Amino acid sequence: NQVLLSVKNLKKYYEISQGMFKEKIVVRAVDDVNFTVMKGETFALVGESGCGKSTTGRAILRLTEPTDGEVKFNGTNLGLLPYEKMRSLRKHMQMVFQDPYASLNPKKSIRQILMEPLKVHSKFDKKESLQKVISILQIVGLSEYHLDRYPHEFSGGQRQRIGIARAMILQPDFIIADEPVSALDVSVQSQVINLMLELQKEFGLTYLFISHDLSVIQHMTDRVAVMYLGKIVEIAKTEDLFNNPKHPYTQALLSAVPITHPKEKKQRIILKGDVPSPANPPSGCTFHPRCPFAMEICKTELPDQAEFEEGHTVNCHLYSQNKEEITYAISHS
Ligand code: SF4
Ligand code: MG
Repeated sequence: NQVLLSVKNLKKYYEISQGMFKEKIVVRAVDDVNFTVMKGETFALVGESGCGKSTTGRAILRLTEPTDGEVKFNGTNLGLLPYEKMRSLRKHMQMVFQDPYASLNPKKSIRQILMEPLKVHSKFDKKESLQKVISILQIVGLSEYHLDRYPHEFSGGQRQRIGIARAMILQPDFIIADEPVSALDVSVQSQVINLMLELQKEFGLTYLFISHDLSVIQHMTDRVAVMYLGKIVEIAKTEDLFNNPKHPYTQALLSAVPITHPKEKKQRIILKGDVPSPANPPSGCTFHPRCPFAMEICKTELPDQAEFEEGHTVNCHLYSQNKEEITYAISHS
């Protein structure tokens, strides 16, 4: 297994002004994120809205400039690349956005939208380019017939197919999909997901799949990183995460969805309070004010990443201190 993407100590901080005196406050949207994505896998970033998962995706592609950290793609350190080089590397790394309504220019026809990346990045002449456009339209389930139509003439699902076609047209190795189906009707979601899975098989794609939707994550990803307040709190194979979540936040998150666990009836864990602001994160373990297992140390010390078992890491003092594994805070009926 080969590493395609490695993300080390990635940070994205930005300043906002707040209150009557326009006080400057630093928002730690992404705060020391570490993970690797292997070639051909689908790696998920999951968490509630505002946890920093989209910003992580954008910072990897340098659609937003990271504050600190290292991102390597196929061994190349992206942070050291001059803008032009980064731009040419981008053809291997594409993004599919959440909102297919907002991400397609309404004034451009499908032909124009799909031709554009080819003009910027490739040496094909017009005829070859058009052939590419038609073939990618067919691959995503549309056709030549749609070439001169405009985004508003399509349904949400079709628009996301166009968004995917745009991402695919330069034959990338890696796609970051940020909530690619959350704006779509449930009935359409699985069609788009199945399309993505087929494309992955056919073209050997690697996905970074960003979502808050746990059932989608469970269905289509190989490994998962759980984010809370700009940090990753747990990483595991998808199956292990769903069967055996370790971090108290992950346990609470998973308890909120009906997951196929015939034997164990899970009870929902209701966390106290709301997610704090990333402008003013709690000390120590940032989850401590809401954690049902918080200890004294949690208030002052940030837990390190501990390997619970191979490939399953968790950032929580319950594990790093080698305490007895906490029993699932869930009653069995
Ligand atoms: Fe809860 Fe402490 Fe673990 Fe944080 S480190 S999740 S507060 S037990
Ligand atoms: Mg988001």
